Amino acid sequence: MKTHPLYLNGEFILTEDSLPVRNPATGQIFARMSICARETVGRALDDAHRAFPAWRVIPGKSRGDFLLRIAAELERRKEEIARVITLENGKPLTQSQGEVAMTVDHLRWFAEEARRGYGRIVPPQTEGKRHLAIKTPLGVVAAISPWNFPLMLAGRKIAPALAAGCPVVLKPASATPVCAALFAECVHTAGLPRGVFQLVAGAASEIGAEFLEHPRCRKITFTGSTEVGRILIAGAAAQVKPLSLELGGHSPVLVFDDADLARAVEGTMIAKFRNTGQSCIAANRIYVQRSCAEKFIPAFLERARALRVGHGLDPGVDLGPLINSAAVDLALSHVADAQGRGAKLLCGGRRAGDAGGAFLEPTVLLDVPGAALGMCDETFGPVAYLNVFDTEAEAVERANDTTYGLAAYVFTRDLNRAFRLMESLEAGMIGINDGLPTASNAPFGGVKQSGWGRELGVEGMDAFLETKHVSLVVG
Ligand code: ADP
Repeated sequence: MKTHPLYLNGEFILTEDSLPVRNPATGQIFARMSICARETVGRALDDAHRAFPAWRVIPGKSRGDFLLRIAAELERRKEEIARVITLENGKPLTQSQGEVAMTVDHLRWFAEEARRGYGRIVPPQTEGKRHLAIKTPLGVVAAISPWNFPLMLAGRKIAPALAAGCPVVLKPASATPVCAALFAECVHTAGLPRGVFQLVAGAASEIGAEFLEHPRCRKITFTGSTEVGRILIAGAAAQVKPLSLELGGHSPVLVFDDADLARAVEGTMIAKFRNTGQSCIAANRIYVQRSCAEKFIPAFLERARALRVGHGLDPGVDLGPLINSAAVDLALSHVADAQGRGAKLLCGGRRAGDAGGAFLEPTVLLDVPGAALGMCDETFGPVAYLNVFDTEAEAVERANDTTYGLAAYVFTRDLNRAFRLMESLEAGMIGINDGLPTASNAPFGGVKQSGWGRELGVEGMDAFLETKHVSLVVG
């Protein structure tokens, strides 16, 4: 069984200690990942700091060329990397292939953005003065990525930071470190200068503490739970360390009776079941206007029932396993809680597949009271909570009745309604007739307790740049 190395200051390092990586479809260990203690993370941050002066002065175009070479290498190895994503995360292979392709696109987008760290020249208010707002890279960046899109969400942090001129130290989730190790190989082949990208792994709280407390680490960019986000916010106070946080979500879907129903069903299926429901922008609460409920609900149910559950490497599978057995237990506890409060189970609600795997049947519940656990907390699984509403005002109120604010989805053909809702829904991303609103060139992030800052788009690189005002007296 292969043990994958860390990537420290340009070298692949196998350490004495390693952690097992399991295939959630079987529960079997298929690889191991080297791990390190806090001192090694500190050294990585110091080495990154040493690499910073040379990296920041390379012209953006040349930094972009490095990113293009990483993208080319990922593309060359896409089948192998997609297979690894499926092995460690469980998602169907086609979705892993999509994840690699999206990561390549993120790298290419930021390769181009690397040329555009524009500042501005501001007209003076006092004669003889000149004012420049210039952008400079903020320094060493620590990236902490989750297991649900293990390659893409790491790439979404690494690419803009490198483009901006910042070295990066990545800590992947312990459940899915292997694709990060393969990414490091791609970086190495692309010839990045030593120390500009490094990979560490190990105990999250220790590594997180080192990122927070090491003065050379100038920013932490994190995707994960709101709970861990709060730990980072508290820890960042001591050094007033900047954070980008992409946290949990509880996305509503609003289906209006003026929608194209086929499109609404299709979009809701994607928003709910992509990645087996383990996405921060997954649809959690689905609200259907009463006047179209009789058409929408049976059509949605039929599609949900038809989803094929199985090993992600098997052809034709729609839903892979959840990340582990505890995740299935959590989802089932939410289902039981909803039923206990009077919700009707329309399908699913049971474990599926082989005993060793973390499989759950696609599950649909109707008339779920707002106090049910799954209506408040993320279920992070293939469980759909359907409810019926009457008016637009009611739909908006219920959609916004959450501490989260990541994504929201609306299905309507009424342009006026679309505009009203894009303004009134409290979410950082709004899909209108679109169940998959993410794109490399558009900002991604949340409002309320779903996080701070934006990834992707021009905002994605700006997150790693400081704005400096330079005032000159001329003449
Ligand atoms: P999820 O389980 O949804 O991925 P987590 O927030 O638990 O969400 O994990 C996201 C990432 O944060 C993972 O890489 C995990 O190892 C890391 N992490 C967990 N706890 C901490 C912590 N105390 N400090 C820093 N990172 C952490």
